Amino acid sequence: MNSPAPGQPIDELALSEIKSAILAKLRLAIGKDAGMATRHDWYKAAALALRDRIVHRWLSAEKQSYDAGRKRVYYLSLEFLIGRLFTDALNNMGLLALFDAALGDLGVGLSDLRKCEPDAALGNGGLGRLAACFMESMATLGIPAIGYGIRYDFGLFRQIINNGWQQEYPDEWLSFGNPWEFQRPEVVYHVHFGGGVEHVETRGRDHAIWHPAETVQAVAYDTPIVGWRGHNVNALRLWSARSPDPLKLDVFNTGDYVGAAAEETRAESICKFLYPNDESPAGRELRLRQEYFFVSASLQDLVKRHLAADGQIRGLAAKVAVQLNDTHPSLAVTELMRILVDLHNIRWDDAWKITVATLSYTNHTLLPEALETWPVELFQRLLPRHLEIIYRINVAHLALAEERCPGDVDFRASVSLIDEKSGRRVRMGQLAFVGSHRINGVSAMHSDLMKETVFHDLNHLYPGRITNKTNGITFRRWLMLANPKLTELLREACGEAVLDDPTRLQLLEKSAGDSAFQDKFRNVKHHNKIALARLIGEKINIKVDPGALFDVQIKRIHEYKRQLLNILEAIALYHAIKDNPQGNWVPRVKIFAGKAAASYRYAKLIIKLINDVAEVVNNDPVVAGRLKVAFLPDYNVSLAEVIIPAADLSEQISTAGMEASGTGNMKLALNGAITIGTLDGANIEIRDHVGVENIAIFGMEAGDVMVRRKQGLDASDVIRGSPGLSRAINAIGSGEFSPDDTHRFESIAHALRHLDHYMVSADFDSYFAAQRGIDARWQTQAAWARASILNVARMAWFSSDRTIAEYAEDIWNVPVNGRAPSEPLRAKG
Ligand SMILES: *Cc1c(COP(=O)(O)O)cnc(C)c1O
Repeated sequence: MNSPAPGQPIDELALSEIKSAILAKLRLAIGKDAGMATRHDWYKAAALALRDRIVHRWLSAEKQSYDAGRKRVYYLSLEFLIGRLFTDALNNMGLLALFDAALGDLGVGLSDLRKCEPDAALGNGGLGRLAACFMESMATLGIPAIGYGIRYDFGLFRQIINNGWQQEYPDEWLSFGNPWEFQRPEVVYHVHFGGGVEHVETRGRDHAIWHPAETVQAVAYDTPIVGWRGHNVNALRLWSARSPDPLKLDVFNTGDYVGAAAEETRAESICKFLYPNDESPAGRELRLRQEYFFVSASLQDLVKRHLAADGQIRGLAAKVAVQLNDTHPSLAVTELMRILVDLHNIRWDDAWKITVATLSYTNHTLLPEALETWPVELFQRLLPRHLEIIYRINVAHLALAEERCPGDVDFRASVSLIDEKSGRRVRMGQLAFVGSHRINGVSAMHSDLMKETVFHDLNHLYPGRITNKTNGITFRRWLMLANPKLTELLREACGEAVLDDPTRLQLLEKSAGDSAFQDKFRNVKHHNKIALARLIGEKINIKVDPGALFDVQIKRIHEYKRQLLNILEAIALYHAIKDNPQGNWVPRVKIFAGKAAASYRYAKLIIKLINDVAEVVNNDPVVAGRLKVAFLPDYNVSLAEVIIPAADLSEQISTAGMEASGTGNMKLALNGAITIGTLDGANIEIRDHVGVENIAIFGMEAGDVMVRRKQGLDASDVIRGSPGLSRAINAIGSGEFSPDDTHRFESIAHALRHLDHYMVSADFDSYFAAQRGIDARWQTQAAWARASILNVARMAWFSSDRTIAEYAEDIWNVPVNGRAPSEPLRAKG
């Protein structure tokens, strides 16, 4: 069933079988014949034919794991940034070549059909993409797992750039239906809100009975996630909300059509859309409803499955591991306690042991202001029983704190589940920490800083719980699918086995200096750059030279990620070229892509600045052929798959100490881009693996940043010492790039001068010098190619298979399948 190696013949029998299967779907599932089918009909028919093949594997994998009584992993995440599934599933099923040939024979191209699939963007950025990579790796490693989340009617907004400004439009990803999902109308759970709690004494024990005021139904939709080589298939189970009482007929009959459906509207609002991550959650009741809705449905579902398979609620932790992706599912702590104590009559202390042994929590941010908190008053109104449970957990927890640090009120206040200072709020990070046996950070540096900063005191109280699990990416999507030409070269150079065991990439090392191999490697990159140059021409009508250095920064637009530092460097470079047009300049294309949260005005202004700078630079004949700036709209997984294989330089320039890990950095290095970056997040581990001579590190370190912030945020000192920076800031502030509104960017210029919280001005000179070092390296193409090849050769450790194998061993206590390459992968960790 697997893809034949290039050049190998295709099995004619299998080919005709696939063709008939697609035609049958077209007729019987879509209701059209080949003559009248649109491209989208063909896509759906092909997807359904593929899905049939997946379902057989899926059902047998599930049966096998239940028969064997295996422990299961449940991954709870409010975000899954899955992107397109068609070629991903084809590749993992080993059916890519067969479907390609079959569709070719039927007169429709696979690559055209591929584009008919909407990019499923049920996530904001890295956190959601991590969940998607993890789902694929868990399936690949044969770990029986379910991903639980919300089936949002609208995913992350579609970004349009209008006259340089970001505009947001709804992402109607479901408007043409979704061939991957199975609706499970029989899998329905009731999720309750509001009301009050009654306490009764039965046989000497207090018993809580929650009388909710409102009930919403959660309906399951399952999407199969295929592991590499199709050995195992897991489910992504997303919940949709509806009202148990969708239409009040009596109200309808009075003519009040809107009022008759009011409850349905209120229930459905829960799964209407994905919240933007940069919005403060404060006061957003709907977000808390979303969190409880998906946590409650998921826990009810997994407890029911466990009881059906095992019969013993007390044995839950031995058969179930629940991973909380960030604090969004923190209510799992209280909901599992409620299920155990209130519904299954387990004693509180026993229930607590089961809960802690079952749950673990992944932290994604060090910013204290980004750790979720909710007003106690809102909790009381929406989840009164859960608030009681939180108070009771807190009593024992604070008693332990008192025991550990007697009389230390500050320590008690800092670890408490309730923040008493800011108008009494429930702290979701503390709740998740206290209720989990393992708390992990997502890069070595992040996990270390967690112990020193946000969870310093909790780490003291519960030593040994914090552990590190450096993020990873699935190589199937980010290498094999995104970069088939490079994959072909790697198969040639490292053997077929490289597809199963990425540590084989190190076999490239011996060819890194070989000029014939370098030529092949460069040809692949050039091919990918031509494709990207074409896309840039089509999408934004900017002509770029594929021979130029492609300098790429693609990620959410955020001050800490410092797109501003990048565009500031572009401005300084522009000035320098204008001053000396005859200089030996390296031709560069600065490529940006990313979305800003709709409410994040400053980030949206930065997008406008990038586009305004592009307008001036791209149309100035003096710099023609030396510098271009391109902002590609609507960044998503599919766009990343085109940009990443074409990148020469990867911009990973966050303010040190602020990026928890990053995964874009891994995707780009794996595809041979050289990183220019700060010592932040996983950049540090990338440096350790690729070697300090094959990466360009610059700027302040996390400790320097903390020290400088304490001294104040005024940057006048560094600006005085840097004529290039000073001129670039003046150009922004005086309207050099905004002649139609010379005041437009004054706020940015002011911040760069006097409120440099993100150290953009402070790091500028170091960054500018590192960029000129990059220019110098680019001039020696053999040395550049060698460094680029060595990046690919040394990135194996960043496979999400390695990350998941570590979770399996240290946190979940589940085996990974026999052929999982966990030992060799760990060698360098
Ligand atoms: C990988 C990825 C991200 C995360 O990028 P970072 O550079 O780590 O912030 C965000 N969005 C998409 C679409 C991605 O593929």
